[in-house]
Amino acid sequence: MNIETQCLHAGYSPKNTEPRVIPIVQSTTYVYDSTDDVAAVFDDPTKSLIYSRFENPTVMAVEEKIAALEGGIGAMCTSSGQAASLCSVLNICKAGDSIIASSAIYGGTINLFAVTFQRLGIECIFVDPDASLEELQKAVKPNTKAVFGETIANPALTVLDIEKFAELAHSNNIPLIIDNTFPTPVLCKPIQHGADIVVHSTSKYMDGHAVQVGGVIVDAGTFDWTNGKFPEFTEPDESYHGIIYTQAYGKAAYIVKARMQLMRDFGCYPAAQSAFYLNLGLETLPLRMKQYCENAKIVSEYLENNDKVESVNYPGLKSNRYYELAQKYMPDGCSGVISFVIKGGRNTAVKFMDSLKLASNEVHVADIRTCVLHPASATHRQLTDEQLVAAGINGGMIRLSVGLENVNDILDDLRQAFENI
Ligand SMILES: *Cc1c(COP(=O)(O)O)cnc(C)c1O
Repeated sequence: MNIETQCLHAGYSPKNTEPRVIPIVQSTTYVYDSTDDVAAVFDDPTKSLIYSRFENPTVMAVEEKIAALEGGIGAMCTSSGQAASLCSVLNICKAGDSIIASSAIYGGTINLFAVTFQRLGIECIFVDPDASLEELQKAVKPNTKAVFGETIANPALTVLDIEKFAELAHSNNIPLIIDNTFPTPVLCKPIQHGADIVVHSTSKYMDGHAVQVGGVIVDAGTFDWTNGKFPEFTEPDESYHGIIYTQAYGKAAYIVKARMQLMRDFGCYPAAQSAFYLNLGLETLPLRMKQYCENAKIVSEYLENNDKVESVNYPGLKSNRYYELAQKYMPDGCSGVISFVIKGGRNTAVKFMDSLKLASNEVHVADIRTCVLHPASATHRQLTDEQLVAAGINGGMIRLSVGLENVNDILDDLRQAFENI
């Protein structure tokens, strides 16, 4: 099936007289005929449902849909994108382990990796995503367990050379995790370029309407967890009556372990209602992504030709340093997020933003409505000056998330705000 069809039909195919739309199964728990049936489900939790802290039919239908969209073998939804990034790594790493992450990733992920992981005893070495493979290799240590990057970094909008990062990971027998939030599988499928695990904040384009916070982890099913580096996959899990994940679940070892071990213990699973909203967003995702790309292209060209603008960063612009990489990984467009630096620095940026009438000031991005954010004083305020530079953020920088309004109305709003500064 093509992606437009998958977005409508994957994950749920009702039978005779069943509801046309995925039903919201608003139930904490499930019933069994006998104690033996309950025992059996604890023996193999993938065979039936136990408890909505980690499995729910509404959520699972959406998981199956997203796995299909990304070309993975399984997926697990989480209560936020942060929870997805957290679980994607903790499913592999424990205290004493190390990971490598591109320095151009979402600010919340930098904080999670640099501060909270450090407290948990997991080290994160940040690398320049544009460095050569030889340079990147220097960050690999015997205890390195994963490589992490973001397809289009929020908000730096650097485009990751996924295949280079996959080579780094695989030549060291470790998996590559890609945060694919901005492109969504409509514009880029990281698994086709070597990613082993894909994570998303579904709060962004996937939902698109800003009605739920959520995340998802997709397992490509391609990584060999039996290569000797990952004993938690190949030795009995005492917390699950001695199950050996690679033996019991084969290619699905990672995603089953994530659910049965981490989600059981952390409980950061979304509500059925949230998954229902997410599914509505997914149904129109290909249509919306096409229009975001079209609008953003026009807006980015307008900004590039505006003499009050110092620079425009949109990987879909020919002048962009990531244009070639963007063409390779996202030939159909680079989503709707643009960043630009206004002449006059921080204060002018703030004045411009406060003058906008249609575009709203929000700590959100990838909404159906146009919105703006000043990263230096909002999402990235916790970063040091050094980390800000590494993440590609400037005081006069504005992140503009182009929505699906008529593009002429978006341009009019920008014009009147420029006149006001
Ligand atoms: C927003 C975002 C996250 C975090 O997701 P939440 O749903 O807000 O927790 C992670 N990665 C990227 C690229 C994001 O844009």
